[in-house]
Amino acid sequence: MSVRVFLGLGSNLDNPLKQLKRAVSALREHSQIEFIRVSSAYLTKPMGPEDQADYYNAVVELSTALSAEALLVVTQSIEQQQGRKYNGKRWHERIIDLDILLYGDERIDSDNLIVPHPGLHERGFVLFPLYELDKNINIPGKGSIDQFMQSELTGEVLRKLDTVL
Ligand code: AMP
Repeated sequence: MSVRVFLGLGSNLDNPLKQLKRAVSALREHSQIEFIRVSSAYLTKPMGPEDQADYYNAVVELSTALSAEALLVVTQSIEQQQGRKYNGKRWHERIIDLDILLYGDERIDSDNLIVPHPGLHERGFVLFPLYELDKNINIPGKGSIDQFMQSELTGEVLRKLDTVL
């Protein structure tokens, strides 16, 4: 049975828009993923350390029969193909980051996976592209996306871009 999934993409290194496009292509081409659509790209302010470049973010909607754990293996292998190295630091600059934001209406809390992605509901750089794709999203355990679009958001959105990913 296929599950509707939303992935968050982010980059602030090595031509970020190109990095987002590469990740989108890899997802489009994956044989066990049905790619549904991608949001606009958004230019956003970094969370955490401010001595790093602004970010480019987007959200992808897909459908897959892969388990959430198997999907995480896919997203991490895409990160690695694009040269991402983990330096263990939180909120540090990155070539590409793929996060599983929502996996159907499931709530997952395992050693390597927390879904819905923690902080999703308070981060502008995730909420804006997610809301663009579907204004009726329910965030399991939190409620309708609508209510979070009104409140104070971190990871401020500076601009929605015209670039097609
Ligand atoms: P990050 O630095 O944001 O790429 O975090 C990577 C780590 O977060 C990995 O060790 C993942 O196992 C873990 N993780 C926990 N929940 C998620 C999620 N929903 N999506 C992606 N990575 C996750």
